[in-house]
Amino acid sequence: MPIDKSWMRSGRSTHEYFTGVANFIDYTYKQLKYDDMKIYCPCIKCSNRDRRVRDEVHQHLLFKGIRHDYTRWYLHGEDEDNDSAESEIWSQLMTCMV
Ligand SMILES: [Zn+2]
Repeated sequence: MPIDKSWMRSGRSTHEYFTGVANFIDYTYKQLKYDDMKIYCPCIKCSNRDRRVRDEVHQHLLFKGIRHDYTRWYLHGEDEDNDSAESEIWSQLMTCMV
């Protein structure tokens, strides 16, 4: 199932963004299985260069904002191959419909 990332472009004060951040953290830690592990922080300030604990990343995303161009969460458990396979199927479907 594709992950909903529309919230990334919502304003930081919106409910959608707030929920999206929580989902992102949950998603990442579901892959890791350890809540106390440090993950790369995709906020505009850290830019996936710094690793931080769960609460810290959560705060950063809420107060600084997530990078808009980080649309494939390859550092946070998203499988690149799955995604491209999916868009491949889509482009085939689109071609069939024309
Ligand atoms: Zn950060």
